[in-house]
Amino acid sequence: MPNNEPVLNFISNKQLIQNYEQIKQKIPSHVTLLAVSKTKPSEMIQALAKHGQRDFGENYVQEALAKIHALQGITAKGKALIWHYIGHIQRNKTRDLAENFDWVHGVDRLIIAQRLNEQRPKNLAKLNICIQVNIDNEDNKSGCQPEELPTLVAKISQFGNLCLRGLMIIPNPTQDSKHAFEKTKQLFDKVKQCHANPTDWDTLSMGMSGDIEQAIDAGSNMVRVGTAIFGARNYA
Ligand SMILES: *Cc1c(COP(=O)(O)O)cnc(C)c1O
Repeated sequence: MPNNEPVLNFISNKQLIQNYEQIKQKIPSHVTLLAVSKTKPSEMIQALAKHGQRDFGENYVQEALAKIHALQGITAKGKALIWHYIGHIQRNKTRDLAENFDWVHGVDRLIIAQRLNEQRPKNLAKLNICIQVNIDNEDNKSGCQPEELPTLVAKISQFGNLCLRGLMIIPNPTQDSKHAFEKTKQLFDKVKQCHANPTDWDTLSMGMSGDIEQAIDAGSNMVRVGTAIFGARNYA
């Protein structure tokens, strides 16, 4: 291998669309496909939008804001793109999230929801929220404990500028995720009764490139797919 290869190497547009069509075939129509575009350029997002993809997931706030800005006015099937923040939420970044995204997944404590509610501009639609659960009880993972859910759902569902939609999980990659998916589905059904507006509670966000089918079998209706669409990520 020559050592002067470019650091960033993206797949071709043709490959991108081929990957996308393949993933679409695996996903029934009641399941929303979130294309996880972190570390990938806005040109690739635009190419997918042209093929009808509306929902995009981003993990890094500054990178995401640059892309959201660059793609302003771009539509998919005639409708505005929908931006989901799926990264770790830092307390000092909540204003950026509240002002620029349509969805924030990964809310795991009340203070974050409180800040998002206060900082959501009044001229925008309610900010859609998913609560992250640390379903495999991992030491260094974001997410609330299952026992905290009833109280979080009861409180967050009362915030007027938020719409509490459901749960998201990232299972422990070293374990079989089937158990985590099934456990989360049970929690999802159970805590609905704590919600102030139970009809808003409609989203179970689980499943990534490696386990889409398993997640959907267990009841997921939103899958977050990065690598299988965009190719491997290069963080160099
Ligand atoms: C990066 C990421 C994904 C996508 O993962 P792939 O394995 O590349 O499909 C999904 N969800 C979250 C929260 C992520 O950070």
